[in-house]
Amino acid sequence: MSRVYQVKECFGPTIQGEGPHQGQPCVFLRFAGCNAWDGRPETRANSACPYCDTDFRGGEAYTIDDICQRLLQLRGEVRRLGLVISGGEPLLQVDSPLLFRLDKLFHWIDIETNGTRPTPWPMPAKVSVICSPKAIVAQPIVVEPDAWKILIPAQEAFLEQAIGGSAPVFVQPVCPDNGPSGASYDANLQRCLDLCYRHGCRLSLQLHKYLGVP
Ligand code: SF4
Repeated sequence: MSRVYQVKECFGPTIQGEGPHQGQPCVFLRFAGCNAWDGRPETRANSACPYCDTDFRGGEAYTIDDICQRLLQLRGEVRRLGLVISGGEPLLQVDSPLLFRLDKLFHWIDIETNGTRPTPWPMPAKVSVICSPKAIVAQPIVVEPDAWKILIPAQEAFLEQAIGGSAPVFVQPVCPDNGPSGASYDANLQRCLDLCYRHGCRLSLQLHKYLGVP
């Protein structure tokens, strides 16, 4: 019997707003479930991610064929289209057979992970693992990412580890629920710029929030 994956949603085409492929056209495959928070609004403030802006509860059971069919419907005629695999925490579910099927359909693939779950092996060469590390009790960071995405100021505790390695470090200002503006956002953005000038970090601005697209 085919394995099933709990998928929250597939959508696009849109623009990848974050990280190494920011600004490029893509579709999203979002998995349900996360190991950092149970997703209930009343527990968010005391979770590992009180800034989480994602609804990852529920979803539908898809086989690999279901996922590929759905993504092909979305892909349309867009050329050089990428795929962003996110969640929730996608590495609770993503495995090698799925990645090798998706590899045939897309120009590049980003996996956005909190870093606490190992990456599948083997993986196609075009897959990039982007780690936005989360301080989850008793769940250390175990991935060796292709790039870090550090939310400022929420994830500053991981900056030294990230800057000390060879992978590029994207710094991204934490954004209020109502969008990228306001005094706290401006302060976060200024801190990111300081880190770019001082440590060679790269700025990640959540372009989709400026554009008003999902
Ligand atoms: S790891 Fe990501 S999806 Fe999970 S709660 Fe934190 S920010 Fe949200």
